Amino acid sequence: MATESLTLHPSGSKMPLLGFGTWKIPKDSAADVVYKAIEAGYRLFDCACDYGNEIQVGQGIKKAIADGLVTREELFITSKLWNTYHHKEHVPLAFNRTLTDLGLDYIDLYLIHFPISLKFVPFEERYPPEWGNMEQDPVPIHETWAAMESLVHSGKVKNIGVSNFTAVLLMDLLSYAKVKPAVLHIEVHPYLNNADLIKFAQSQGLQITGYSNFGPTSYVELGSPAAKNAVPLFKEENLSKIAAHHNKTVAQVILRWLVQDKIAVIPKSVNPVRLAQNADIFNFKLSTEEMDTINGMSIPLRLNDPGVYANIPIYA
Ligand code: NAD
Repeated sequence: MATESLTLHPSGSKMPLLGFGTWKIPKDSAADVVYKAIEAGYRLFDCACDYGNEIQVGQGIKKAIADGLVTREELFITSKLWNTYHHKEHVPLAFNRTLTDLGLDYIDLYLIHFPISLKFVPFEERYPPEWGNMEQDPVPIHETWAAMESLVHSGKVKNIGVSNFTAVLLMDLLSYAKVKPAVLHIEVHPYLNNADLIKFAQSQGLQITGYSNFGPTSYVELGSPAAKNAVPLFKEENLSKIAAHHNKTVAQVILRWLVQDKIAVIPKSVNPVRLAQNADIFNFKLSTEEMDTINGMSIPLRLNDPGVYANIPIYA
């Protein structure tokens, strides 16, 4: 499978433009799905404590390496620090749990999952802690970031970054970070192109990973009214026309639109046909007009908003 990569700063690591999302993959199938994704050519896996399946994802990776499908060095593994571990003493604790669960010696990219600090929950009480009772326990981001930097110095993390941060939070972080954030990981799909934030982050040397690339699809199953009320992207007229023109699917057009603009994608699918289809995006090119049409579709419609489901309005 032909793929391309982005160079991360300051490490110089290469991050594949195409990756595989592991949120909501059930524990009992995660090892098998990850193994099949590696067989299909995926090299980046987007994981998180919060997804509750890092042990099983790690088992899939381990088997693929043992079977000679891939080496550890050819893989790029991302994970994320959950909201209940923002205190400096909890960052290494949470990181080491993730590392052990995944069965790895190092992680390629570790992200602060949200700019939200919730009260610590001991592992014995609940893991992953999820949003729990959403009791906030404010920790300044500079404290969390310094602990993230220590992970880089330990050699167990190659790159650090942030997820669900706004431009203002990034400006603040960049003012003191000794190890600059390598990646900004945010919701990006045709209904929310996040163009201004992406432009700003790229101008500051960060690479972008867009998540929930298929927009409402992932949130309908969570019961989101906003997702249910939106026209599914797979049925949207402009996208369908562009897809027909290239003899590709709408999913492939959406992913192509992103990677063509140097935004890394991490589609999730447990279906082998779709999983292969989503990886087949490096052999066609969208015209400037087609790119503009998709850029013009932003409503904007944000689907992953803790202001809605956790009453913590980080985008207000
Ligand atoms: P997604 O946009 O990848 O969509 C997944 C849904 O689309 C699934 O229901 C799947 O069945 C369907 N689908 C996949 N390929 C398809 C195809 N070719 N044709 C038709 N349907 C198809 O959704 P997502 O899981 O929300 O996002 C991807 C990944 O991004 C996650 O798995 C996770 O790793 C990451 N993520 C990160 C955050 C964060 O806060 N940092 C939040 C959400 C997601």
